[in-house]
Amino acid sequence: MSSLAKNYERRKIAFKRGKGSFLYSTNGKKYLDFVQGIAVNSLGHANPYLINAINKQSKKIWHISNAFNIPEGEKLAKRLTQKTFADYVIFQNSGTEATEVAIKAARRYFYSIGKPKKNRILCIKNSFHGRTIAAIYASGSKKMTEGFGPKVPGFDHFNFGDHKSLERSITSKTAAIMCETAMGESGIKVIPEWCLKGLRKICNKRKILLILDEVQCGIGRSGKFFAFEYSKIKPDIVPIAKGIGGGFPIGAVLMNKKVALAMTPGSHGSTFGGNPLAMSVGNAVLDQIFKKGFLANVIKSSKYFMNELHKIKEDYPGIIKDVRGIGLLLGIQLFENQKKFIKELEDERLLTIRAGENVVRILPPLNVKKTEIDLAIKIIRKVCNQQD
Ligand SMILES: *Cc1c(COP(=O)(O)O)cnc(C)c1O
Repeated sequence: MSSLAKNYERRKIAFKRGKGSFLYSTNGKKYLDFVQGIAVNSLGHANPYLINAINKQSKKIWHISNAFNIPEGEKLAKRLTQKTFADYVIFQNSGTEATEVAIKAARRYFYSIGKPKKNRILCIKNSFHGRTIAAIYASGSKKMTEGFGPKVPGFDHFNFGDHKSLERSITSKTAAIMCETAMGESGIKVIPEWCLKGLRKICNKRKILLILDEVQCGIGRSGKFFAFEYSKIKPDIVPIAKGIGGGFPIGAVLMNKKVALAMTPGSHGSTFGGNPLAMSVGNAVLDQIFKKGFLANVIKSSKYFMNELHKIKEDYPGIIKDVRGIGLLLGIQLFENQKKFIKELEDERLLTIRAGENVVRILPPLNVKKTEIDLAIKIIRKVCNQQD
């Protein structure tokens, strides 16, 4: 009997080790892992470069307080700002903490300019920003908030793609619009470039902040360092996590200068956030992702994978409703509930994970090999064939 609480419906398999795109189960089977801890292991399992980085740092300092300077964190923050819109960074340990700080920073900004009543955050209905008490109400999902009342005030919602309701929902109290550039949990729904441009324009016009949650789609997952870079816009605040640690828990919020200046000494803190061990791993992940040609290769893998998935869709139009995604954040939307399909993929040794709207979510490591994509395609085809 497990002593772990039942808040997860866990699958039966367990793994003893991993290598790159593969996982080896305790009962001796080899799986192609296209979950990768939900877009976390951006460089695959047991990456030698990351192992070396964590080993080296583990012999020096694991943790000190943020009351002191942390050179490894200074370095990671510098690199994140040099490569992006951001001027400043606050480190956390997870995605939901990062979105919490994003919300705090947006409110604090308006407070700092003498408009404390401008504090409401406008989000997409049924989005995903994590599981803390504020983040679940930001998501506006009935399922996630059930039984966790009282409702946290300060969040408004509009429907994905409904531009009229978005404009209508902005009031004099709105501080920011917060959305995922590409929605992961809720079904791999990518906000098109022209909508992102429109969002930026609306935010400028109404003098509110734009928060783009790139916890899942960021750090190279989209084929650009950030998914919003395709649209060439600049958000004000960007929470990140998942991929930046390559498997080590790291969260962060990136901010432009005007927002960051509101986060004055004492306004926020975290015991673990940005500790030397985490920061060394984060730097090692960036060493790889910033390598020349790395992101171009993500785009190449994505194009190939997408193209192959579209071919399967054409061959099985009664099973697959849609193929969508950006970079290596991919989804196959089925006409029916995806649970059985995911189980059959697993029986064929391909690991995938669900997302909203009957979507089978596919998240290979960013350095996935063509032969591994081919293997996945073969398995997906086989399972479609079995269902037909
Ligand atoms: C996963 C995720 C989060 C929450 O991250 P945790 O590390 O699980 O707290 C927040 N936002 C998005 C878009 C996510 O995909």
